[in-house]
Amino acid sequence: MKRLAILGATGSIGMQALEVAAAQAELEVVALAAGSNVAGLVAAARATGAEYLALTDPAAAAQAAAELGRPVQSGPGALAALVTESGADLVLNAVVGAAGLEASLTTLNAGLDLALANKESLVAGGELVLAAARRGGGLILPVDSEHSALQQCLGDVPREQVASLVITASGGPFRGRTRAELANITVEQALAHPTWTMGAKITIDSATLMNKGLEVIEAHMLFDLPYSAIEVVVHPQSIVHGMARLRDGALIAHLGHPDMRVPISYALTYPRREAVPARPLEWTEAFSLDFEPPDLETFGCLRLAIEAGEAGGTAPAVLNAANESAVAAFLTGGTGFLEIEALVAHALDAVAPVALDSFETVVDADLAARAAVASRLSEARA
Ligand code: NAD
Ligand code: MG
Repeated sequence: MKRLAILGATGSIGMQALEVAAAQAELEVVALAAGSNVAGLVAAARATGAEYLALTDPAAAAQAAAELGRPVQSGPGALAALVTESGADLVLNAVVGAAGLEASLTTLNAGLDLALANKESLVAGGELVLAAARRGGGLILPVDSEHSALQQCLGDVPREQVASLVITASGGPFRGRTRAELANITVEQALAHPTWTMGAKITIDSATLMNKGLEVIEAHMLFDLPYSAIEVVVHPQSIVHGMARLRDGALIAHLGHPDMRVPISYALTYPRREAVPARPLEWTEAFSLDFEPPDLETFGCLRLAIEAGEAGGTAPAVLNAANESAVAAFLTGGTGFLEIEALVAHALDAVAPVALDSFETVVDADLAARAAVASRLSEARA
């Protein structure tokens, strides 16, 4: 029996994880946390009987506590407190954004295994997360489909036999468009992802290709390979999730219809593999797999992310926080689609990177990047 805590339980990944956990007698959900979604938390609490609950938003926590007739923790430190108090063995971090970093660090510092969907943890504070895993001895089990695939392709191949890792990208809804064609993109158009149904922030990141950029940094951190050994290829069908290119030229690929329950289940039931009711790939009908190089001129966010990764230190934290602010502004009508890239570039120019030596350093870089985006947005409105 594994005692599982789900952070971000009311989101796209969190709800699919609840479905996976409900089907596995081996997994007991003991703790649930989210941001402010009262109805979602109450429903998940009733469905699982989880004992430890938290909502970071205090008013939402009070309302959920009243509906359930039992305590719901709240406040900024609530997630980290839940991780340690609940006696969980395994924590799924499916919070969106750098808000998930503290809980990742708490989990690993406590020596617990971390099923990590919150890629922003590794982007903003990668070196701290890896150091916490080394100190505590817990495993980092990636939930991001590409990284789950890469971990499986790599198996126990020694690193010196790996020539590169290949991350696939669907290309998002605007694959093949020119910059001029992206100028008047609406929120609705950007939220219409061709192959995956996900939370709003990652869906916009998929449309700008920032998501792929964050994933390049995530892969660099997880698999300890230089940026020059991480390739991105656009693959519109989202059937090949990742490939390891070995030094003899062999490419080991991981395939399947896009379904996040597969990597979620792999991380939650590791090292076992349990059945998942995902649609199998069938060979009774013909289908093709297409691949093309990414367009780094049109989708400059991917290029900015790789540059920030190579710069190191707090540059990826600045990139990530600026992107979170810019995407939030785009989603609420406060800026245009192409301005997301411009705002991130501005923040990277405005906030000089420093060495990443503490959680506070990440928080400072994160806040400075958000302030740089906010002031650029208010200048634009003036
Ligand atoms: P989502 O928006 O659907 O859900 C986010 C969850 O986080 C919700 O439960 C929300 O209440 C909670 N949350 C938000 N802010 C919070 C805060 N400050 N404190 C605590 N909880 C907070 O997002 P999602 O699509 O499920 O994505 C979650 C994470 O998984 C992201 O990092 C994303 O990049 C990653 N991911 C998602 C997918 C996918 O298919 N959705 C695939 C790969 C990786
Ligand atoms: Mg992914």
